[in-house]
Amino acid sequence: MRENEFDVIIVGSGAGGLSAGVRIQSKNPSLKTLMIEKNNYPGGFIGGFFQKGFYFDAAAEAILSMEKGSADSPLTEFDFNHPFTRMDVIETYYDKDRVFHLYSDERKLIEEIKKHFPDQAENAQDFIAACINLRDELIKGKFMSGKLTLKKILKMILKYPNLRTYGRQNFKQFLDSFFTNEQLKNYFMIYPIWLGLTFDELKAPAGAYLLAYSITNGLFYPKGGMEALAKKLAELFVARGGTLKFKTEVEKILIEDKKAVGVKLKDGTIYRAKYIISNADLKRTVLNYVGKEHFNKKYIHLIENLKQSMTGLILFLGVENMDLSQYPAHFHIGVNPNIVEEARRGQFELKEGLAVRIAGNKDPENRVENKDSLHALIIAPNDWNNYWQAGKNKNRQDEKYKKLKENLEEKMIKMIEQIIPEISKHITYQSLATPLTFERYNYVTNGSWYGPRYDQNLPPLATPIENLFLAGSNIAGSGVSNSLQSGIQTANHIVELINKEITRED
Ligand SMILES: Cc1cc2nc3c(=O)[nH]c(=O)nc-3n(C[C@H](O)[C@H](O)[C@H](O)COP(=O)(O)OP(=O)(O)OC[C@H]3O[C@@H](n4cnc5c(N)ncnc54)[C@H](O)[C@@H]3O)c2cc1C
Repeated sequence: MRENEFDVIIVGSGAGGLSAGVRIQSKNPSLKTLMIEKNNYPGGFIGGFFQKGFYFDAAAEAILSMEKGSADSPLTEFDFNHPFTRMDVIETYYDKDRVFHLYSDERKLIEEIKKHFPDQAENAQDFIAACINLRDELIKGKFMSGKLTLKKILKMILKYPNLRTYGRQNFKQFLDSFFTNEQLKNYFMIYPIWLGLTFDELKAPAGAYLLAYSITNGLFYPKGGMEALAKKLAELFVARGGTLKFKTEVEKILIEDKKAVGVKLKDGTIYRAKYIISNADLKRTVLNYVGKEHFNKKYIHLIENLKQSMTGLILFLGVENMDLSQYPAHFHIGVNPNIVEEARRGQFELKEGLAVRIAGNKDPENRVENKDSLHALIIAPNDWNNYWQAGKNKNRQDEKYKKLKENLEEKMIKMIEQIIPEISKHITYQSLATPLTFERYNYVTNGSWYGPRYDQNLPPLATPIENLFLAGSNIAGSGVSNSLQSGIQTANHIVELINKEITRED
């Protein structure tokens, strides 16, 4: 094989690209896989960065059910032993005069509901039991993968009592069946938000599945931060024979005789391979890197009409000489249950719903000497106030954009100060990421945090073009676990194809 020829090329080293690469090289270390990443670090949304000595997770902040040995943990597929910390509290709400902890522990969560909402407590146990039963029925019936066919629906109705009762409800209706207090119900809104959906759009079984896992198994944070996980996966890929190139951007996926045969980089270099996996943004992959002309109309219609999940703002703050250890690792300042709908309508107001994450409280090693870091996130429209005052050309150097950012930073810090008094006196680093920032760093359409929205028919891993495949949240829906899992599935499919070829040649 020549220097620029590979068996497989993977575009992008996000969670999906990394897991696909590790899986391929683990199954067959004699294969030559090339992974191409435009940034100078691996991981995409599971990356992290240092600024002025402060560590920040770039985007994802915790992973559901990452416990080694747990049934659905994708990392158990590799011989991978990175340590994770289990988070005891999924989210703390500072809401009016109440501090409510959403515990990742059934007993503690029921006690918390009893303490704050005594009149709702009666049904709390039944609610959690229903979530766990729904999750178990989804797993037993293998309903979480593949299309929901009529046969599957019949099986659901006939064999599984919880799916029969709640299967057609949305998450809001499901919560309504157990609770009457709106404030309490709002504390469960992180589950639709994790998928970029509203309460009504999330199906009851999917919401119950997430909630059951977060209560029974828990939320996990990789030791050393998200970037440590990404770097370890990247190292594993290279150690098993893969080649990883950073600061290298794919401009085109090359098609010859209706087959994907390689990629062309921005600098003109061409790499060829038998199989191509795109972990990059789906719309860019299909419409720009390959080009509309290579697909059938039906596929283009599907891709062009996919709605993107929501985006938002993240304020990264470096704080010196201040003890943040007394605050929860993850907390929310107020709740705005309509935040996703408002953002979809293009509305944005900095009021309730700011989520704060303190890196050193998830892993003390993220706290370096007297330096601690936190970031604050809020959902916001992609295009607000004329692309955040940067104009249609999204000019991030525009003075109006810079001024607007300064203004927002100030307001967000004031909000955080309601919970962490005097924090503004200790900030020595601050930087605000807008939807334009996500679009620039990860090349995601509309800066969307979770890829295409989860409540649509997402395309399968195989594209209509021979030898071109997809991996990551593009096809798996949001979340690190889903993206990792999707990379494994795509890799398994390709290794199977390669094995078939070898058998045929023999
Ligand atoms: C703010 C935020 C918070 C989140 N919080 C959580 C959370 O707490 N828990 C959770 O489970 N999930 C969370 N998510 C979602 C989760 O991070 C993503 O769903 C998942 O990491 C996506 O992985 P991916 O592999 O699909 O793609 P990505 O992470 O988008 O990776 C794609 C990679 O491809 C590269 N690329 C793109 N185009 C090119 C090109 N032309 N050439 C070369 N390289 C290219 C990009 O640079 C990137 O590295 C969050 C997401 C965001 C944005």
